[in-house]
Amino acid sequence: MKLVFHGHDERYVAEQSLMNLFPGERPVYEPIAPDDDSWAVISLREDGDRCAVRVELAHGGRTGDRTYETALSGSDFDREGQRRHAVGACFFLAARDITGNTPPWGMLTGVRPDKPVTWALEAGRSPEEARRLMEQFYYVTPDRAALALETGATAAAAARRLERRDIDVYVGIPFCPTRCAYCSFVSQSVERSFALVPPYVDALCAEIAAGGEMVRRAGLRARTFYMGGGTPTTLTAEQMDRVLTAFDAAFDRSACEELTVEAGRPDTITAEKLAVLKAHGVTRVSVNPQTFEENVLRAIGRCHTAADIGDAMELVGRYGFPHVNMDLIAGLPEDTAEGFRRSLDRCLSFGPDDITIHTLALKKGSRILTEGLRIPDAETVAAMLDYAAPALRGAGYRPYYLYRQKYMSGSFENIGWCREGGECWYNVDIMSELCSILSFGAAGSTKMVVPGTNQIQRAFNVKYPKEYVERPEKWRANQAAFAAFYETV
Ligand code: SF4
Repeated sequence: MKLVFHGHDERYVAEQSLMNLFPGERPVYEPIAPDDDSWAVISLREDGDRCAVRVELAHGGRTGDRTYETALSGSDFDREGQRRHAVGACFFLAARDITGNTPPWGMLTGVRPDKPVTWALEAGRSPEEARRLMEQFYYVTPDRAALALETGATAAAAARRLERRDIDVYVGIPFCPTRCAYCSFVSQSVERSFALVPPYVDALCAEIAAGGEMVRRAGLRARTFYMGGGTPTTLTAEQMDRVLTAFDAAFDRSACEELTVEAGRPDTITAEKLAVLKAHGVTRVSVNPQTFEENVLRAIGRCHTAADIGDAMELVGRYGFPHVNMDLIAGLPEDTAEGFRRSLDRCLSFGPDDITIHTLALKKGSRILTEGLRIPDAETVAAMLDYAAPALRGAGYRPYYLYRQKYMSGSFENIGWCREGGECWYNVDIMSELCSILSFGAAGSTKMVVPGTNQIQRAFNVKYPKEYVERPEKWRANQAAFAAFYETV
């Protein structure tokens, strides 16, 4: 779709709105020709403290023309947000006029659609006001507004437990036994990169030790620890022990509420590794089957059976971890609505206190796209999610965090469901950006959050394990930036 702007250059919001409302379209910045059938002219005019946006739109033989006015107030940063909202809202209304479609999350295009609820509740507004905000200001459908109210309330509660110098710690293990069909993550197959694992563990332990020292000097407290990947349990028991020992030695564990380790792939879970996790006081183990359907497991490139998942869950159960999490994905290649139902029922039969239901996201570079694998359509994915919500509620779970990714089937969302007391606070903190996250390891993304504001700074570790081992100067610079940030807040 050709985009033409007058009086502004709000490219980001225009492009995000375009991709949200016209899936498959891409922005093009060229003059509109008389016979073009896909274009938008977005004009913005400001008069003192008022801003008026007009969107003229053409697509699929239909045209729309909308205006949207709003008051501007507050700081320059606030006014920038108000202008951006006006452009997004006006584009949304014009697009809705000509397509007749209202996406579940209305005009919200970001990865954390419940954030406006959290902000409203933190600002002292009532749940009813927060719900109205979602439906009337962002055009979110009533069921998604109700969902955001539940997860937004959990985020507001999570924010209350944090103090200004509380942080979370993330450790990344970017290795997996094989690569899943839907994955574009920078994970290396252990078979192909076996030699890289020992130097990676050495480098990681050095980074954790230096990070702990920096955190101590800055007077910060680690509230949660999360080891993800990749698949952390691709490490041997001895390597796992080294990483956890490095964390124990570097950080004060007394304020650390939870220690989570993703044991994502059932074929990497052994009694020896679980014993190490238990000995280090790990409070949550996450087993991620994604499906229990044999044909789907094969299609996504998992080298294990559904029975292996059951065996892994039985083994994890023997160690008595306080919390166990399981993940499923709706919309995987070869799956059906019935298959997904069976997977969820099977998952529920193990009684984990935390279940995350993801919706498939089509990621660049994944085998689904490069090999053109057959995936369920949006209606089938909707049927899967329609089954999941009441089934989970019926079994005593409630939604406690949610997020979206780009290019998700049907523009839905990922939802974490838990039983009472089963929340993984790290998930809530990171999704709602409630506190800083200090990330260790290759491709680690460190976030520095100014408490009580919407402002975030980021620092990225190098992407690949080999580069990470060879260039410790990058994580040293990131840690220096993290320390400098806390000298100012
Ligand atoms: S387990 Fe996760 S990180 Fe590893 S290949 Fe599969 S999707 Fe990617």
